[in-house]
Amino acid sequence: MSSDESSLTSDDSEFIRCRYCGQRNSTRDESGTARCGRCRLTLSSEPHKKFSTLDKDEYIHPADSRALAALRMIPGIDSALKKLLAVTGESAIRVIFTASAVKVTADQCPDLHAKLQVACTTLGVEMPELFVQQNPIVNAFTGGVERPVIVLHSALLERLTDEEVLAVVAHEVGHIHAEHVLYITAARLLEFLANSALLATPLVSIVKTLISGTMRAALLAWARRAELSCDRAALLVTQDADVIGRTMMKLCGGTFASKVDYPQFLAQARDFQKNYDAKALDRFWADVISSGMTHPFPVWRVSEILQWVDSGEYKQLMSNQPHSAAA
Ligand SMILES: [Zn+2]
Ligand SMILES: [Zn+2]
Repeated sequence: MSSDESSLTSDDSEFIRCRYCGQRNSTRDESGTARCGRCRLTLSSEPHKKFSTLDKDEYIHPADSRALAALRMIPGIDSALKKLLAVTGESAIRVIFTASAVKVTADQCPDLHAKLQVACTTLGVEMPELFVQQNPIVNAFTGGVERPVIVLHSALLERLTDEEVLAVVAHEVGHIHAEHVLYITAARLLEFLANSALLATPLVSIVKTLISGTMRAALLAWARRAELSCDRAALLVTQDADVIGRTMMKLCGGTFASKVDYPQFLAQARDFQKNYDAKALDRFWADVISSGMTHPFPVWRVSEILQWVDSGEYKQLMSNQPHSAAA
């Protein structure tokens, strides 16, 4: 109970203000495990930083910028992708989810709505629509161009803790903040078509006419690296690297993750970096896509987050001092 801002005391109960969503909670729980009644995240008197003016270039992974620059060099790529999305229809995305998934609002799944609000206010992003779709694969995605929507699969909510769900929501909000949505929607569509029974439909021949092999390869190579930037955005929201690490462990291990030792998993991620070979991964990528792997390389992603924290860049951003702030 450090300041008037974060807590208030009255005669019969004690209030603690949620550091994430600002809700005033009445609590007498001294165990440190009490959760906010609104966003369901753990209550604590630690501060939670909200960025007033976060520029994407402050956290974008260099591999993302390079791959995006290479992608943009391909003649006609933007108009081809816009045509592709016009054919498949941005409004169709919204119609599909409104018809088949639960729309999250302040009254429907209010804790999820609060988590979305936490991610959006922390990064400085306008609230997109959020849906929950019944799906046994632990996954989430962001689609759309003009008005992005975020979709969380039901399995993700069943497996992850509230903090880990915040990490996933923040990662998706990161795609919007980083202005990834046109390209990420196109990449997801290509992945979906590669993995689905739609392979023989006319849609695939339309896609093949519009999107050349070069465009497709560059798009998928970029999409994988775009994840690294959004994992950083997720860390800027959760403000706890272990939450990102544990989320990745669950994406990696599925239900088996409960039997996985987290420190050993981190050691594996650090070890991975020593043998990292970007070219070999790129060659492998086409096979990975066609094998239907939805969460590429979680160990690689954890190793990248650990490196970012080790570099001091994360700490600099958190301390709001652009230069030599890392102690
Ligand atoms: Zn809260
Ligand atoms: Zn992503």
